[in-house]
Amino acid sequence: MRYYPASIQNLIKNISKLPGIGEKTAERLALHILRRSRQEAQQLANAILDIKDKVRYCSRCYALSDAELCGICSDPARDPSFLCIVEQPADMVAVEKSGAFRGMHLILGGALSPMNGIGPEDIRIRELVARVANEQVKEVVLATSTNVEGEATASYIAQVLEKYPIKVTRIASGVPMGGDLKYVDQVTLKKALETRHAL
Ligand code: ZN
Repeated sequence: MRYYPASIQNLIKNISKLPGIGEKTAERLALHILRRSRQEAQQLANAILDIKDKVRYCSRCYALSDAELCGICSDPARDPSFLCIVEQPADMVAVEKSGAFRGMHLILGGALSPMNGIGPEDIRIRELVARVANEQVKEVVLATSTNVEGEATASYIAQVLEKYPIKVTRIASGVPMGGDLKYVDQVTLKKALETRHAL
């Protein structure tokens, strides 16, 4: 790397800070960008800055969005009587890719973890209860991860929602125990959503 001029060294250094990218890959990517047109380099630079300038949380479901409301929350074809609860934006994307769910979402922003000091007030439990209390929700589908924290979070939510006249279900078989939802393949997740059970 030290054989390259300072500008190239600088790009290699910055690319290699990305997760999973070693110095060799960073070098290859930097040289690739150097060979492409100025316009392509500009597009890449703009795309990176764009996500920093434009992306925010949807004010309703807390998905990543370019607008006040995300594409799902502003879609009149979605069924608001079903509310799917996930931990992270990537989990919501996984549920969407499965194609098995046509309701709305709410992203908790994490899972309960007493060991790490994460309690109910640190994730969006209050927002979830408000939606159930004030909207026409008929079923809450708990699609938190199947690890210890995800299970604890699902049980806690089921308990909190007990006093509301709604169905609370948990995604079922197919999702491996200890599994992180975003790594589960689409077919498995589709099956798990279809065979969810009451909590
Ligand atoms: Zn939304």
